This record gives sequence, structure tokens and C-alpha cells, in this order.
Amino acid sequence: MRAIQMVDLKSQYHKIKHEVDKAVIDVLESSAFINGQPVHDFSDQLATYLGVKHVIPCANGTDALQIALMALDLQPGDEVITPSFTFIATTEVVALLKLKPVFVDVDKDTFCMNMASVEKAITPKTKAIVPVHLYGQSVDMEPLMDLANRHGIYVVEDNAQAIGCDYTFADGKIAKAGTIGHMGTTSFFPAKNLGCYGDGGAMFTNDDILAAKLKKIANHGSDKRYYHEIVGCNSRLDTIQAAVLNIKLKHLDAYAKARNEVAAYYNSAFAGNRKIITPRPAPYTTHVFHQYTLVLEGVDRFGLQQHLAHKQIPAMVYYPVPGHRQEMFQQFNVAYDLPVTDYLTERVISLPIHTEMDEEQLKYITRSVLEYIN
Ligand SMILES: *Cc1c(COP(=O)(O)O)cnc(C)c1O
Repeated sequence: MRAIQMVDLKSQYHKIKHEVDKAVIDVLESSAFINGQPVHDFSDQLATYLGVKHVIPCANGTDALQIALMALDLQPGDEVITPSFTFIATTEVVALLKLKPVFVDVDKDTFCMNMASVEKAITPKTKAIVPVHLYGQSVDMEPLMDLANRHGIYVVEDNAQAIGCDYTFADGKIAKAGTIGHMGTTSFFPAKNLGCYGDGGAMFTNDDILAAKLKKIANHGSDKRYYHEIVGCNSRLDTIQAAVLNIKLKHLDAYAKARNEVAAYYNSAFAGNRKIITPRPAPYTTHVFHQYTLVLEGVDRFGLQQHLAHKQIPAMVYYPVPGHRQEMFQQFNVAYDLPVTDYLTERVISLPIHTEMDEEQLKYITRSVLEYIN
């Protein structure tokens, strides 16, 4: 049996090696390492794929969030609502910009932000909401946008984990996650669903004014070389990474399909086990399974993780400490009551899921999990 990894980037690379190697060598030969043609091609192709007007590439998913928030001209102390149950990058940039993160709870079934919790958290100081499409499923964007628009609040979607996911509106209209809010962001970190071979990220928007602003901020606050209108930063996607992404984007839907097949195998293997809650699909979204995450009831989760480790099976807890319990945010000194976030934080475990898994591996993993739990 091939070694089991949380994500198998090497086997995936070998399947597209011929194409990727050529594209990378072409960049080396052109020596247009910064802002070369592949960067422009990739922005155009991703915009077409997502059905969004503007894609602005940048250096990583954390920068994308930071730049999107910078584009809103918020004042120190303005409030930004985000889930606590997410990767730290989502909330860290809020504090970095001297804004105040306001943590809300998530839904038990979807792991994504809970609308009632968002509504309750809105105050006159709320200027932005950052929903996170966690593990590969979209937040329920239609009610969220209704709520935000009613209060004149910006929405920046953190779509680092759900690129390619489709959200369906009540009238049947479909849009890609990340393109529904005022802005969306993503990460091309290698292990993400659309990963490059280093760091990378992008911002999306249908708003021409915001697009121009994002571009300017990512380029030292400038549209004209050596003339700087506003304080920005330097955040670029390397040409080599764009060349890799141009190839991988063509495979993205097939990659999502492979991930869904893995999830379906796990679902049926664990069906009916009363200690294991498998991912619950929401009717308004597809799932691209960035992670396959179980909720375990009455199981020693770290014991299971250790049992699996002895059998050379990796399993991860995403994330062991939620935002509202992180030391870096204690300065905000707010006593949060987020029972679902705390409940999930104690019970989730993610199993290996990627585009290169075979049945032998899946059989071995599911058998090993059940052996411990039953
Ligand atoms: C990975 C990730 C990010 C950050 O992306 P980087 O490219 O690593 O900076 C932000 N938010 C979420 C939800 C992520 O999973």
C-alpha cells in the first residue's frame, strides 16, 4: 500500500509533471519572474472560471484578507464579525489592522457561521463581516447578504477552503463561493484545493472601484510607478506560481470530484455508527471537501489520533483552539459564549482526503477508525 498522507502533492504532481515542468521552464527562459504573462493569463482564467469580473492575484491568502479589509477604509476600533471556528489568518488580520474582531458561533451541521449569531453581534460599529467557507462548503450567503445589505455592512468572503464550490440562491441562480460578497479572497497554499508550489493568493470582486483599490494597495498604493497615493503593501503572485496554477485550474473540477468520491467512501463506511457524525450536506451548497471532518461523540479523540498514528495514518484536529480562546486576542477581553464552537472544537477530527487516494488506503483507514471506536 502507498504511504497515507493528509495530502499527497507528489503523486498529484507526477500526473501533470510533463505540463508543469514545461510551463516552469518557459518562465525560467522568459525570466519574467514578476508579473509575467502567466500571471495575467491566470487572473483572466480564474475570473472566467469563477464568473467574477475581477481577480487580483497576491502573495498569499492572509495578505488577500488584509488587503481586502484595507480597501474598506475602516477606522481603528471598527468591528468585524467573523467566526471563531476558523484558521487564525481570518481574524489575525482584523487585529493587525487595529480593528476589533467580534466572534460569532457556527452551525453544528455545517461548521459555518450561524445567521442568528451574526445578527445578534451587529452593532453601530460593525463595518464588515468575514464569513469563512470552512472545509469546502459555502456559508448560507443569501440571508447573510440580505442581513449585511440591510445594515450597510461589507462582506468579505474567506474562500481559502472552498474554491470551486457552488452556492444556489432561492431562485435557483448559482454562483461560485467567494464571488457573492463585496469581495472574496482565497489562498493557493500547496495543500489547498487549488494549490501552487509555494505561496499564493487572490482577491475577487465584481465592483470596479474596489478592484482598482485592491490592485493599488497590493502595489505599494500606486497605479503609476513611483507615485504613491495611499499606504499599501507589496503582495504579488510569482510568475512561476501562476504558471503552475494555470495548469492546475484546468483540473480543479476533476480534483473536487475525486475528493467527493473519497468523502462518499468514508460516509458509507461510517454510516449508522452512533459515535460518528459524518459531514452533513446543506441544500444550498455543493461541497469540495477541502477537509473531511468527523464529529465524534463519546470517543477519546486524541486516543484515536494516536491509534491511527501507530498504523501510519495521519489525522488532524482543525482547529484545536478557537479564535475566542487564542492568547493573541485576550487584549479584547470579551467573555464570549460560543457553545457550538466549543462543542465542535472538542470533538472534530479530520481524516486524510486528497485527489490521489485509492480504495486500499480507504479500506485500511476506515477499518482502523472503526476498530478503535467500536
Ligand atoms: C489557508 C487559510 C488562510 C490563509 O492562507 P495563506 O495562503 O496560508 O496565507 C486563510 N483562511 C483560511 C480559512 C485558510 O484555510
